[in-house]
Amino acid sequence: MKKRQLMRRKRVLVTGGAGFLGSFLCERLLALGNEVLCADNFFTGTRDNIAAILGNYRFELLRHDITFPLYVEVDEIYNLACPASPIHYQHDPVQTTKTSVHGAINMLGLAKRTGARILQASTSEIYGDPEIHPQNESYWGRVNPIGPRSCYDEGKRCAETLFFDYWRQHRLPIKVARIFNTYGPRMQPDDGRVVSNFVLQALRNQPITIYGDGQQTRSFCFVEDLIEGLIRLMDSPDDVTGPVNLGNPVEFRMLELAQMVIALTGSASKLEYSPLPQDDPRQRQPDIGLARQLLDWQPAVSLEEGLGRTIDYFRQQMDLGQIEG
Ligand code: NAD
Ligand code: UDP
Ligand code: UDP
Repeated sequence: MKKRQLMRRKRVLVTGGAGFLGSFLCERLLALGNEVLCADNFFTGTRDNIAAILGNYRFELLRHDITFPLYVEVDEIYNLACPASPIHYQHDPVQTTKTSVHGAINMLGLAKRTGARILQASTSEIYGDPEIHPQNESYWGRVNPIGPRSCYDEGKRCAETLFFDYWRQHRLPIKVARIFNTYGPRMQPDDGRVVSNFVLQALRNQPITIYGDGQQTRSFCFVEDLIEGLIRLMDSPDDVTGPVNLGNPVEFRMLELAQMVIALTGSASKLEYSPLPQDDPRQRQPDIGLARQLLDWQPAVSLEEGLGRTIDYFRQQMDLGQIEG
């Protein structure tokens, strides 16, 4: 028998697999021939997001909260479970910190017992409101430890600490991805993120809500590009632990984003200004030099193309009556 036929399929655990990023990751891992176990407590994820793969015999769905221990046998773990939008992570901030910290401990314990490789979905929020621009991985960040965003920012920072301590103490094969703003189909319509807000407002011909003067910047990565980066990071050699920035380095002002969405939708929406939320970073742009060098990765989808695909998705959801028109 050839060696290839003896090789077993990988069993991959995706926590938060019913969420926005997680559902795309599960699909991609299945397409690559893996067995996928999705563990999700459905706080922000939905069965709709994974409807297309629920019938796949290599896919298994487990309703589970990762703040509790989980005993399963796997080869790889992608730890994505955590609400990502301010509205959702501030809804129950204590649970958000527990998910990041207790969740990381449980998943690291699982990785330690099974010998699995483990990847953490960290975030650009660990840089806080940065003093350097663009942000590279050696920057330690400027984060308020006691503000409304702290449950998320500090929870994710502590999770990174745990990952590196398990690596130092137990030689666990870890991977830490610092994900910058990502957008695309299956963003939740009610999560208050700027892309979904602007697209829905434009499709409904409602005012586009600009917070502050709209001069603050973000750089937006299309979901497919991001998933490719996560998979390349997981597949990288053991000595590549990260943290590695994953995001699109092309930077836009929120005002420019609003104008692009209006143009692409042909909307009659006008701009409406309201105050900037507390601790809202002024600028954010990833330095992806490390990802380019270590993973040979960079985003391929332009904002215009990705927005077009996102707009198509939300339009379709409205036509189906899944989202109010
Ligand atoms: P999402 O809210 O759509 O997905 C998170 C998923 O985790 C949901 O399915 C939710 O139900 C699940 N979940 C939450 N708490 C859980 C718990 N205690 N146990 C089990 N499941 C739980 O968010 P997303 O945008 O897909 O983000 C996925 C990950 O990527 C998060 O860890 C987030 O911090 C990180 N991230 C996302 C972005 C982005 O722009 N989308 C940017 C940086 C980092
Ligand atoms: N754990 C888990 N699944 C496993 C192994 C461990 O959920 O397969 C959890 C367990 O609850 C433990 C945590 O992971 O509290 C950390 O495990 P570790 O072995 O690192 O620490 P210890 O059990 O010694 O506290
Ligand atoms: N924002 C905005 N209008 C909205 C939603 C968000 O102007 O309807 C701004 C928000 O103040 C921030 C940027 O858009 O400066 C990105 O916000 P989001 O919540 O999407 O991401 P994050 O702040 O976590 O990067």
